[in-house]
Amino acid sequence: MKKTALITGISGQDGAYLANFLLKKNYRVIGTDRRSARDDKWRLKYFNIENKIIFEDMDLNEITQIQRIFSSYRIDEVYNFAAQSFVKSSFSNPLTTADTTAIGCLRILEVIRNLKKRPKFYQASSSEMFGEVLEIPQTEKTAFNPQSPYAISKLFSHFITKNYREAYNIYTSSGICFNHESPLRGEEFVTRKITSCLSKIQSGEISHFELGNINAKRDWGFAGDYVEGMWKALQVKKPDDFVFSTGRNHSIKNFIDEARKYLNFETKWHGSGLSTQLRRKNNNQIILKINKKFFRPTEVNLLIGKNSKAKKVLKWSPKTNFKELVKMMMLEDLKKHSR
Ligand code: NDP
Ligand code: GDP
Repeated sequence: MKKTALITGISGQDGAYLANFLLKKNYRVIGTDRRSARDDKWRLKYFNIENKIIFEDMDLNEITQIQRIFSSYRIDEVYNFAAQSFVKSSFSNPLTTADTTAIGCLRILEVIRNLKKRPKFYQASSSEMFGEVLEIPQTEKTAFNPQSPYAISKLFSHFITKNYREAYNIYTSSGICFNHESPLRGEEFVTRKITSCLSKIQSGEISHFELGNINAKRDWGFAGDYVEGMWKALQVKKPDDFVFSTGRNHSIKNFIDEARKYLNFETKWHGSGLSTQLRRKNNNQIILKINKKFFRPTEVNLLIGKNSKAKKVLKWSPKTNFKELVKMMMLEDLKKHSR
């Protein structure tokens, strides 16, 4: 018998990578998303799997839609990826962020609690919950100190997932994922913004771009590696929380330095602080400036995770390092924007 997995947020980066991974493992994959006029499934087309998935409309803010899906299919595993996932937007949309990212998770758990045959449940928790970090590196035991409506919403869903495990004996696990990127990452996130904008500058589509705080450090891994860990988190006997990270971090500036190596022209840094600029070496043209508008009201300055529990219990470790990740993203974007 084929196993059936339900992925919420199928149109996002992780939805595409996990769907591709599960289809290779011979799962039946149901992908849910809220209805959208811009439904072009570009990430699923990247893997050529858009015809292999059963699509259902399921807005996490509508409990009746969630009930309908769970009563229509016999589901073995649920991966809850749907969320308002962009930290910056959570400051301008705190209520919708909380409704989807926090309460949306609880709505699914409530539906599952009332089922006779309960599926296993994976929650996409986030390293943003560590916020202004209280320990370096961060582990499953590190205290949380969230710094945004997004992180606070994720903290609610993280703890309610643990509570439903302990209170109702439902198989629920959380992956505390550090930032994971890929050529399918949304262009609003800093890594993809950098690779996409640099590629557009090389092709002449734009002359320059702007960023906020380039000194923040992130523990960046590859999404393709991380979805394997998420699946493994639901295959072990005992549900639990697991950190998925690489154990290394780099600043945004380091990411730019690695990315600019792939351009066909040379660049040079000028100035410091808010006056930092990246310019073309040959004609001094500015290609990157700092703009205060991209700073956040409260920032997460440093994240670095320790993945020894996932290594030991799940036999998981990331395969792709920082340089390989930047190269993969730059080469894909340069190809996309080549003339
Ligand atoms: P994306 O932003 O790429 O995808 C988020 C998905 O959620 C999209 O499919 C989006 O749909 C959907 N969604 C948003 N609001 C609703 C709603 N009200 N009802 C139903 N669906 C909704 O995120 P990723 O794939 O990168 O991440 C997957 C999950 O992992 C997210 O929960 C994210 O917060 C979390 N996470 C991600 C990390 C990362 O580095 N990528 C790190 C740690 C956690 P639409 O296309 O319509 O907007
Ligand atoms: P996050 O870790 O989930 O917030 O992932 P992002 O990719 O959105 O941001 C990572 C870091 O990059 C944060 O510290 C941001 O403040 C910083 N950053 C600097 N400039 C930008 C920008 O223009 N866009 C984004 N998204 N982040 C930026």
